[in-house]
Amino acid sequence: MLGFLKREGCDSLICLWAMLLLLPLQVSPHGHDQSGTRGHSIPDRPKLLLVSFDGFRCDYIYRVPTPNFHILKDEGVMVDQVENIYITKTFPNHYTLVTGVYAETHGIVANEMFDSSLNQSFSMETDSRFDSHWWEEAVPLWVTVQKAGRRSGAVMWPGTDVKIHGVYPSKYLPYNSSVSFESRVEQIIEWFSGPEEEAVDFGVLYWEEPDESGHRLGPQSSQMDEVIAGIDEKVGFLINELKKAGLYEKMNLIVTSDHGMTQLFADNIIELDEYVSRDLYMWVDKSPVVGILPKEGKLEEVYNKLLDANPNMMVYRKEEMPPRYHYQHNSRIMPIILEAKEGWTIMQNRTGHFMLGNHGYDNTLRSMQPVFVARGPAFRQNHVKPFMRSVDIYPLMCHILSVRPLPNNGSLLNVQDLLAPEPVTSTPSVPPRAEEYSYAPVVGCFLSVVMVIGFLMVFIREVTLRQLPSLQHRRREMSQPLLQEDLHL
Ligand SMILES: [Zn+2]
Repeated sequence: MLGFLKREGCDSLICLWAMLLLLPLQVSPHGHDQSGTRGHSIPDRPKLLLVSFDGFRCDYIYRVPTPNFHILKDEGVMVDQVENIYITKTFPNHYTLVTGVYAETHGIVANEMFDSSLNQSFSMETDSRFDSHWWEEAVPLWVTVQKAGRRSGAVMWPGTDVKIHGVYPSKYLPYNSSVSFESRVEQIIEWFSGPEEEAVDFGVLYWEEPDESGHRLGPQSSQMDEVIAGIDEKVGFLINELKKAGLYEKMNLIVTSDHGMTQLFADNIIELDEYVSRDLYMWVDKSPVVGILPKEGKLEEVYNKLLDANPNMMVYRKEEMPPRYHYQHNSRIMPIILEAKEGWTIMQNRTGHFMLGNHGYDNTLRSMQPVFVARGPAFRQNHVKPFMRSVDIYPLMCHILSVRPLPNNGSLLNVQDLLAPEPVTSTPSVPPRAEEYSYAPVVGCFLSVVMVIGFLMVFIREVTLRQLPSLQHRRREMSQPLLQEDLHL
């Protein structure tokens, strides 16, 4: 048989053998994930917990000893600079983390919004935030996870107590600021630890600090040292609870934030009343990025009065917004946008509430950028990456959970170096994506049958020719003149 295969003229047969051997690999992109994982048992499903400490600026972990953040960094990865999205506020950035798109695409363009077409307002501080329509310009990851047949759990993350596209998280706690961090951790660990058919695979957990203290004290206050150390202790609590539950080694844990914080100064206040009458416009959202909706027919007048009014305030028409902000193409973005320079506050007059710390400014400012550390079986160890965009976190999480990402502004390629190398030989550990139960096996079977038939036909033909050497010889003679003629063409 081997001698037969080596004979001249049997290349096609060898190719067929090779293709048959490779067929399972060719079908695999839909039948397996890249780690070669399929057909595994439910207990090995990947777990991912995303934790946000609101307003935890990227450099806080170096300001005071933060041993628990450093444990996560040393055992996993850290990204030195995470460029979050504009505006650098809480709701827009938390929704980007779980959708991978900019605010103009997911529609949560600010903590407070106005929809001109519906004449409705949104505020993170009122029940308007439960109105689904504000959230449904994008699909958050917990919805995608559940539509793929998996389960999610959410503790206080913005938007998780809202029915979005008809779906709540599999398990969730409605927002209640009086619930302690420790209770929140215990709750989500309970959901991760339940019976496998009920346990969640993806969890999100939110904590309000150090944002609240940052606003009240200002980030330059020495009192912030204690606040930051307290957050590190909470990270330590989370690590210990995960260990006690036997989840620490199998959990992929991301600890990050929505934005940073910068110091404000009472002398640096821009009072709009000095430049334009309140009767001419509606004020939307809060400093440092304020939406201005001029009264009908007053757009040019308001714009001209504000333009060049104060050197510490940028004034943009919506269509003039810098492209890098990706903050233009949404009806909830007001016709005129005011943006204070870092450290400055925009008010109508000084009777407004002044804070010593704030965020919302240009997302390329380092003071506006959040911390990012992550550890777990999916991540490399002791690796520091210089730069990442927060929109890349969504495709990273989809990859870890093995769910297909929806269209987004991020890229897994940008963050692939955060991931542990794929094992050469792996035991199945990741369930197939829901979409993988599709046509791939049918196509694979069809191709297999076609190739087996092709192989048999070639095999029979070669055996027949071998047994009829004289006929073969005559064929060669008959073809010779034609070949010679061809050479002279
Ligand atoms: Zn804040």
